Amino acid sequence: MASTVENRVGSEARVLQSYLGGKWQAGEGQGAGLMNPTTGDTVAWASSKGLDLKSALDYSRNVGGPALRKMSYGQRAELLGKIADALAARRDDWFEIARKNSGNTKADASIDVDGSIGTLKFFAKIGSKLGDAHMLRDGAPMRLARDANFQGLHLGVPLDGVAVHINAFNFPAWGLWEKASVSLLAGVPVLAKPATSTAWLAQEMVAAVIDAGSLPDGALSILCGSPNDLLDYLRLGDVVAFTGSADTGESIKQHKNIRQQNIRVNIEADSLNSVLLGPDVAPDSPEFGFFVREVVREMTSKAGQKCTAIRRVLVPAEQAQAAIDAISAALNAVVVGDPANPMTNMGPVVNMAQRKAVEDGIARLRTKAEVAYVPENFAPLDADLARGAFVPPTLLDVSNGDQADVIHEVEVFGPVATVVPYRDKQGAFALARRGGGSLVASVYSGDAAFLAEAGVALGTTHGRVMLIDPAIGDSHTGHGIVLPSCMHGGPGRAGGGEELGGLHGLWFYHQRVAMQGSAVTLRVLSEASADPHE
Ligand code: NAP
Repeated sequence: MASTVENRVGSEARVLQSYLGGKWQAGEGQGAGLMNPTTGDTVAWASSKGLDLKSALDYSRNVGGPALRKMSYGQRAELLGKIADALAARRDDWFEIARKNSGNTKADASIDVDGSIGTLKFFAKIGSKLGDAHMLRDGAPMRLARDANFQGLHLGVPLDGVAVHINAFNFPAWGLWEKASVSLLAGVPVLAKPATSTAWLAQEMVAAVIDAGSLPDGALSILCGSPNDLLDYLRLGDVVAFTGSADTGESIKQHKNIRQQNIRVNIEADSLNSVLLGPDVAPDSPEFGFFVREVVREMTSKAGQKCTAIRRVLVPAEQAQAAIDAISAALNAVVVGDPANPMTNMGPVVNMAQRKAVEDGIARLRTKAEVAYVPENFAPLDADLARGAFVPPTLLDVSNGDQADVIHEVEVFGPVATVVPYRDKQGAFALARRGGGSLVASVYSGDAAFLAEAGVALGTTHGRVMLIDPAIGDSHTGHGIVLPSCMHGGPGRAGGGEELGGLHGLWFYHQRVAMQGSAVTLRVLSEASADPHE
């Protein structure tokens, strides 16, 4: 099916359309403006006013779903490969949009864009292992009674609804495709709802994929603009996968229709992630250098707008000053400015509202913390501070982390982190857990026994724990990088969700059923299924 999106990269202030019910549609009126955070210029408008979202959901369910589920996992894995190819062919366009609408440097855009293409390719590859199957299988048929012929088998049947994917502003590309990869592989059509402020990239990518013509009609839709009454029309068999702030996540969980129909919801929300420098690490050790580099990278990559970014830096009290000095020296070398200039290491945050939120957040942290580092005479390169959404990298520190509640409760979504000294390892673990459930913690140490102990201690309150000894100091993929092979999510405040984790992620889009019957019937079912864990 040909796309009819008229506005392409390069034209001024385009109007974003939504792809619903198999056609491009514009909402009424101008809607919300999307800005270039470097210049303050408006780059696009998005309105969803008046769009018929009930019909759009019906179309996905009734047209896209059956077409996808007629295919096997192996065939759908091939589709993912074709999506990756269509996106890879226009990589330069995506980088340009990421710069213009998200203020991304090339390195920032690579995490989002190349991360999406890599995730699609990963699921294309591992999905192909499921071959001709149409269902998932968990284990083998088992005898249930005295009659050996009466048996049971756990199967996963793909859901017959639509997957509504609601995404945050910071990963318009990766957020879209990491969810869509798993959903499409499962056989469940996608209705994506990108965050309005950065929806341009998501919309153009969807247009490229629709234009490529490889997906069945109704398999992929996108809603640009406000979600309006979208959640009112969900029903049994639909799912919501949400990424965003804890407040919005809570309001989705409490939505009347979601509660009444018990719609399956996965929430990926904010997180007060930490890095923990082991008690054994001296300032002249390699571990210390790896730790400092990672803190600075996490503070400045995407201007600190990663849900997994390090917010709290836990260090032995006797090393606190050395850590502050080393991190500050490295931050001082960071060039903030227009991401179009190759000298720039860090761009702006996404818009003026977010800049204000970060500034307000820093003010809240400062009720308990001191500023340890902020650049003198902050002036972004090739940009006007009055018009651009620039925030200086800011390092704070507290003397008593136990008593500074705000440090453990307020996620400042920008280039900001706080150094928190600890007295002993139990105190360090307790501080890390004060985040109330986090996506990720990293621990740096040369002591394998300590790393293992920390992993277990932090495991109950974290979705991922990265244990770094010097042997992997250079080769690990990074504290903030989510890999498609590993589970992404976290308990408590982080939303309690689980995404990705290789084929494990498929279960969210399947109904688990305990099938009971005779051996011959279960053999038929077993032969139509594949065990993703084999
Ligand atoms: P947000 O304000 O919560 O918005 C997230 C998404 O929810 C947007 O698409 C938004 O649409 C939509 N939305 C807002 N109200 C809604 C409602 N009542 N019903 C349905 N959808 C609704 O978050 P954000 O500012 O975009 O993102 C920043 C936050 O996301 C940070 O706190 C960060 O920690 C978190 N985050 C978490 C992860 C993770 O994987 N755990 C990843 C990235 C970001 P509109 O844009 O149209 O309002």
